[in-house]
Parts: sequence; C-alpha cells; structure tokens
Amino acid sequence: MQTFLGKKILILTAHPDDESYAAAGSIFKNYQSGGQNFLICSSRGERGRSHLKKPVTDAQLKKIRRKELLKAGKLFHLSRIWLLNFPDGKIKNFTNAIYRKSLPIVKKIKPKAILSFGSDGITGHLDHIAMGKVAKKLARKFQLPLYAFVLPPTISRRALIYFKARRKFGKYANKSKFPKPNLKISINPRVKKRIICCHLSQIDNGRPYSGFPAFAIKELLNAEYFIVSK
Ligand SMILES: [Zn+2]
Repeated sequence: MQTFLGKKILILTAHPDDESYAAAGSIFKNYQSGGQNFLICSSRGERGRSHLKKPVTDAQLKKIRRKELLKAGKLFHLSRIWLLNFPDGKIKNFTNAIYRKSLPIVKKIKPKAILSFGSDGITGHLDHIAMGKVAKKLARKFQLPLYAFVLPPTISRRALIYFKARRKFGKYANKSKFPKPNLKISINPRVKKRIICCHLSQIDNGRPYSGFPAFAIKELLNAEYFIVSK
C-alpha cells in the first residue's frame, strides 16, 4: 500500500490535539522522510475542558489550546498551521464554510495527500465526522489520496467502552462502526507520547490515554492505522 511518507501532506482536524492523538507518530515520520506537514484545524477546542481541574472561560481555553498546538507543531515540524475559529461542538453546521476556507489553502500549498478522520471519526465525535466529510470533498475535488485515521484493529472492538469512560463533553454518534485499516505505519512510541503530552489541558494524570488498558496504550503508541482511498 502506498504511503504519504516523504510527501507534502495536509491534515484536517476539528480540535487542537486530534492530530497528535490520531497521527503524531506518522506526521513526525513524514518529516523525517523528507515530507512537509500542513494542518488545518477547524476549532480552537473551547469545549474540551473535561480534563481540567480548574474552571476556565472559553476564551482562556482557546488560548491555552493554541499554545499547546503550537508546541506540538514544533515537535512534529508543522510547516504551517491554519487554526480556524469555528465553534467547537458545532462543526457539522459549518462544513461548507470550512470547505470554502480550505480551498485556497489547498490550491496554494498543493499537497500530495490529505489526512483526516473517516466515517467513524475515530471516537465517534460528531465534529470529527464532519471534518472527515470536508476532507473527503477536498480530496475528491483535487484528486488526492485520502488517508483516514482509524484505530488499531486489536482494540477497535472494545474502544467504545474506553472512549465512553472518558467522555464528559461533546456530542457523539450513537453507533460507531470501526472500519478495518489497509495501512499500518510503525512509529516511535516515545515521540508520540512526547507530542501528545504537549496538550497538557487534555490529559488526565499526566499520561496519554489514561483509563485505557496497558495493552491498548501500547498499541496506540507503537503504530498508527489508516484507510487509504483514492
Ligand atoms: Zn477531537
């Protein structure tokens, strides 16, 4: 299966941290392989306060998450981030606007591949599913291969149980099907852990994937999986 490694890629996400949880290792590996990474993130993640101990305002959380994304972006060498400001939790109402904002960006940077969510949104989050649709439309328009993030097949069946335990805010699809990947990229677990840990406001107990069983954390930190479609 053809990979995006060593190419110019555009990643489309909904929240500042999606890129790190879903594909930090592969994005870093792309840079190492001579590729270039660009990111469009549609919201500033102001609803993502379930992991915070102290109350913050939306405006404060937007600032915090922007800083965290910039820090992570340095680690995996993002050439440029377009951090849009559509309302977290309501992305599905803005897919046309996000698509229109993304068009000139794609024309300008001319990526060779697009990375984003698939129909399951990985966690079932409706914002993720909505961004996956924007990515699909862009990939079709520019005839680019689309690499959709998916869970490691060994954990996908039980994943809903883990995710439900972590959910406090946000809207999710009632039933999530976890499709089978057709591409696996082995990654450096230490690199992925370090990048995820940039998003301190989104981490419980200072550890990524807190609440997940040890075998699942190992799987998530050692390889990333995609469904490639052309
Ligand atoms: Zn997210």
